[in-house]
Amino acid sequence: MSRAPSPDDRLPMLVSALPLGVVLAEADGTIVFRNAFAQNFVNARHSEALVESALSKLLDDARGGRRLERSVDLYGPPRRNLELRSFPVLEDGNVEGLAVTIEDVTEARRIEDVRRDFIANVSHELKTPVGAIGILAETLSEADDPEVVSRLSDRLHDESHRLGQTIDDLLTLSRIESGERFEPSVVTIDSILTSAVTRVQAAADRAGVSLAREVHDDDLTIVGDERQLSSAIGNLVENAVKYSDAGSTVTLRAEQQGEWLALSVTDNGIGIPEADLDRVFERFYRVDHARRRSTGGTGLGLAIVRHVALNHAGSVDVTSVEGEGSTFTLFLHPRRADELFETNESAPSEVSIHG
Ligand code: ADP
Repeated sequence: MSRAPSPDDRLPMLVSALPLGVVLAEADGTIVFRNAFAQNFVNARHSEALVESALSKLLDDARGGRRLERSVDLYGPPRRNLELRSFPVLEDGNVEGLAVTIEDVTEARRIEDVRRDFIANVSHELKTPVGAIGILAETLSEADDPEVVSRLSDRLHDESHRLGQTIDDLLTLSRIESGERFEPSVVTIDSILTSAVTRVQAAADRAGVSLAREVHDDDLTIVGDERQLSSAIGNLVENAVKYSDAGSTVTLRAEQQGEWLALSVTDNGIGIPEADLDRVFERFYRVDHARRRSTGGTGLGLAIVRHVALNHAGSVDVTSVEGEGSTFTLFLHPRRADELFETNESAPSEVSIHG
């Protein structure tokens, strides 16, 4: 009859299951134990052999119980970053041996890099309009000509509006990314499209762009966070208007495609060069030609859309031809959305791109 494992048996089981290398050595550096993760580097070939040599160097240097750290970057593929740390093993205050942990910090490093880039981008995006506002205000204080005063005031207004917009988008993105206040309910597609159109109608009128709707089934519904979904479609319609010429039409469509519900926004505007298609969903990414237009936005709109798709276990797709126009489609899956409603968890989504 098998007996239940005792706490003494469980400890080695636990140590061998850790997603972390654990190595124990005598005080003179002789290795007496490695768990399964650490075993992977014994007799390893290619760049992984570097881990073993870093380990023996660390054990050498840490003799006598020194606490040391050493990083090993493996150029792969796949690229990996490992961190080795030594600790003294003490008994009655005496160093009886050494313990070394080997940790895979690849993902933590990647997240740290993303965070650093993000902060650098945010600082740049905020500093640019703040700098412009300072210069404009200074010039304005010395201007007498009413025409110049009016032009400078307009630019001041535009720059402060842009600054406010960037801050709003940053707050929206952070709220949506953190998954905070995800409030699923049964939402009608009609209400999502209506709130997106209401939000953009005034800008569309100013730009001379018409908004059209093609929805054959008015009863379509989806389980999701109404505010997030309206914000995503609102962003897509806003972009479609921004990057279209006067006289053109932006069309919103909602249709069932197999198991999926497709919400799309099509324009006949400037389109997106193929080389930029896979980057437009990144935070702060803008296509150069769009940037030069006075209408250039914050570069955060599509990052928000992508995150809304992610929160709804859906995906977002773009088809675009430069000079002809673009279609952005948010795919939602009613059954997967229903499951989310039950578990309130998000599943990973994809971005797909077609030139
Ligand atoms: P922005 O606030 O600059 O519009 P987005 O994240 O919404 O930022 O979009 C990123 C970039 O993708 C835009 O700067 C623009 O270059 C391009 N883009 C987005 N939507 C369209 C569209 N409908 N037509 C052409 N280019 C677009």
